[in-house]
Amino acid sequence: MKTAQKDIRKLSKEELRQFFVEQGDKAFRGNQVYEWLWQKGAHVFEDMTNLSKETRALLDDHFVINHIKVDQMQRSADGTIKNAVKLHDGLTVESVLIPTASRTTACVSSQVGCSLNCKFCATARLKRMRNLNPDEIVDQVVVIDQQSKLYHNRPLSNIVFMGMGEPLMNYNNVLKAIDKITSPEGLGMSPKRITVSTSGVPKIIKKMADEAVRFNLAVSLHSALDEVRTEIMPFNEQMPLQELKEALQYWYAKTKKRITYEYVVWEGINDRREDIDALLSFCKAVPSKVNIIEYNPIDDGQFQQASPEAINSYVRILESNGITVTVRRSRGKDIDAACGQLANKQ
Ligand code: SAH
Repeated sequence: MKTAQKDIRKLSKEELRQFFVEQGDKAFRGNQVYEWLWQKGAHVFEDMTNLSKETRALLDDHFVINHIKVDQMQRSADGTIKNAVKLHDGLTVESVLIPTASRTTACVSSQVGCSLNCKFCATARLKRMRNLNPDEIVDQVVVIDQQSKLYHNRPLSNIVFMGMGEPLMNYNNVLKAIDKITSPEGLGMSPKRITVSTSGVPKIIKKMADEAVRFNLAVSLHSALDEVRTEIMPFNEQMPLQELKEALQYWYAKTKKRITYEYVVWEGINDRREDIDALLSFCKAVPSKVNIIEYNPIDDGQFQQASPEAINSYVRILESNGITVTVRRSRGKDIDAACGQLANKQ
């Protein structure tokens, strides 16, 4: 009987209201239940204390609440926490809490595995199993918010979609999740504190711009030369840099939001002067800044972080041309929680 029951969080608020009307109750009950599900994070109908016993029993007869479960939690020496979370069908994704002096950031997954094949990324080695549902994304945020309060005495302040998967390949669900995270009837967080990171899917970037989304956009660029980028991110063959650039120009024209480029410098791959020049000219096409991230080895020795001199050259040349650059050290490396290391290694 239980298995045939519907996951209640698949219903919109309107559908919930409709359900109660069909049951001869008031539509308003739907709003109450919606709040329990999306604002108060109820795991069981039992907890919905402003509903009568009969109403709770009715819900229990018709629906289930599929909630993610933290299967394993690891804490890094630097305060980073990595969660392996189990989904209702037994699959696992990872999400990470990253504390700094001024903020706590949740790094959440959008897919189980990934369909892209970036050569330097551990997640790429798992094939894409499925997209996450909106509730599975929201649950990761809720879990990390609780951990932030428990271990760092403050609520979560920022969210980055930089966990497993390509958010723009699961665009509809990511958007629905962000809607729940930002709406006052949900978690009420500001979209300004949310960043969606993409390896660059031009068609969807344009669509997001058309829909006037209010969160930030980061693009994992890693090279502004097609021949290099295709080598390390083979999907670039189908979605070349010119198309990406046009989509980003469109994004900026519509949203007026500056783009962040994520960039790793590897020895012998993108550490030449021409790589820097190409990045510089790419940066000039759209208001943007560059985030140079440390390479986190994924144990095959194929890629190696470039020398500090090579990285300094990037910084010097970009900065002297008026481009903002930050060089970011990785967090949580000792527990494989850093960028590109999420791969359900257990
Ligand atoms: N698919 C999205 C979301 C993943 S974000 C995207 O590509 O943006 C993960 C970030 O970590 C991306 O910027 C990715 O390029 C970067 N990354 C992947 N593997 C890495 C590694 N081994 N070391 C450092 N960064 C890595």
